Amino acid sequence: MKVISADLEVVAVKPEQFPKDRRPEIALSGRSNVGKSSFVNTMLARKALARTSQRPGKTQTLNFYSINEAFYFVDVPGYGYAKVSKTERAKWGEMMENYFSNSECLKGVVQLVDARHAPSVDDVQMYHFLKHFEVPVIIVATKVDKLKKTHVPKHVKLVKQTLDFDDQDQFVLFSSMTGQGKDDAWGAVRQLIQI
Ligand code: GDP
Repeated sequence: MKVISADLEVVAVKPEQFPKDRRPEIALSGRSNVGKSSFVNTMLARKALARTSQRPGKTQTLNFYSINEAFYFVDVPGYGYAKVSKTERAKWGEMMENYFSNSECLKGVVQLVDARHAPSVDDVQMYHFLKHFEVPVIIVATKVDKLKKTHVPKHVKLVKQTLDFDDQDQFVLFSSMTGQGKDDAWGAVRQLIQI
């Protein structure tokens, strides 16, 4: 995929603010520090498009990045902070539910998990949350460069088993360090948005 333009076009917290142009959307979700910004920057071949890690207390927004004026990557707030209050957690849940149940243009979600470890309780919950809304998911297992090649199959198995991975979903091994998986990830995204 040749990325000609990638611009933050809409920042939204509620459905009325979502873009109205009906272009397909792919949301990007993951625990803080999983490598989401690095993933986006690798995919778009940009040095620093995505904002750096969100921190608790910062306004939680849905950021719609228009790609080639053809579709959107929607950066959704990270989850899994240890110190997030109950109120904040509830707000996050409400916003995500609003988005997943109202966005007619959402074609799928890239959910990032760290290839090195079993997915966390939050990762598993998020995956099941997405399955509940019947959203197709692309699991992108990041930082695969940090694994010994011979250990990779064992880690894939652990990640899939822990998530109770649905074989209808796609699974991509990824490294923003080496670029491994970039073409596979684009293939998976394009399949969902049909371009
Ligand atoms: P975010 O909080 O999910 O947006 O995570 P970042 O993209 O900011 O990455 C968090 C940390 O992990 C940074 O120190 C990155 O350099 C590192 N990182 C991200 N992706 C990879 C990867 O594929 N391989 C390695 N080795 N490090 C990575």
